[in-house]
Amino acid sequence: MNSISPMNSKLQYPQLAEYCESHHFQHFELKTIMFDMDGVLFNSMPNHARAWHRAMEFYGLDLPEDEAYMHEGRTGFGTINIVTQRQLGRSADQTECDKIYKKKSEFFNSYPTAERMKGAYETVKAVKTSGVTPTIVTGSGTVSLLERIEQNFPTLFHHEWMVAARDVKYGKPNPEPYLMGMQKAGRLQPYQTMVIENAPLGVEAGVAAGCFVIAVNTGPLPDSVLLDQGANLLFHSMTELSENIATIIYEANHLNR
Ligand code: MG
Repeated sequence: MNSISPMNSKLQYPQLAEYCESHHFQHFELKTIMFDMDGVLFNSMPNHARAWHRAMEFYGLDLPEDEAYMHEGRTGFGTINIVTQRQLGRSADQTECDKIYKKKSEFFNSYPTAERMKGAYETVKAVKTSGVTPTIVTGSGTVSLLERIEQNFPTLFHHEWMVAARDVKYGKPNPEPYLMGMQKAGRLQPYQTMVIENAPLGVEAGVAAGCFVIAVNTGPLPDSVLLDQGANLLFHSMTELSENIATIIYEANHLNR
């Protein structure tokens, strides 16, 4: 990007200026940062991947655990359909989907509740301390979601702006959940927000919504899978992100274009 000013060339994160340049924004005016939940705030993905693998196996289908990470964010129906197409050469019907998904939920609910992701609290806290409001955009539909969030991240999130499964029709990788998050936060523009995601389909959704996307690779997939979907920055843990997020926010809000 040859039009980045000399001042911006000293940025620790030139990706911020590159993003504004390519989206024709002058600068960021951050109001909110939208956090994905599974694999970002909670270390729940190993349980999801294992439950998917075992439920498929129970019905004679094969979905390796590592592959389950590739489908994170997809609807249950979407994931099941991919496997039946591949293995049986046909789409799954509704009854089949219902029973496989029910079995997946049974396995998942039999596992111990996932812990808060290491470094997640510190990251969310640093966002709030920087004067930016943290919110959550998740495909998860857990009824006890709010309670769990409040227990693990007391007083940090703005609940009214939160987007969960019940709020959306399509889900990730459709940009809908993130567009709805921006809408709820006051009809925000992409330069007023950022997305924090761990999953390829989630990164795709954030990019499609026009947002600057920070990928955190907390699972077994190669970094390239997240970068190929258009992630603007990539970290390898929430702890690493927690040590850098304040600088990212400061630089974003002080770009000189
Ligand atoms: Mg996730």
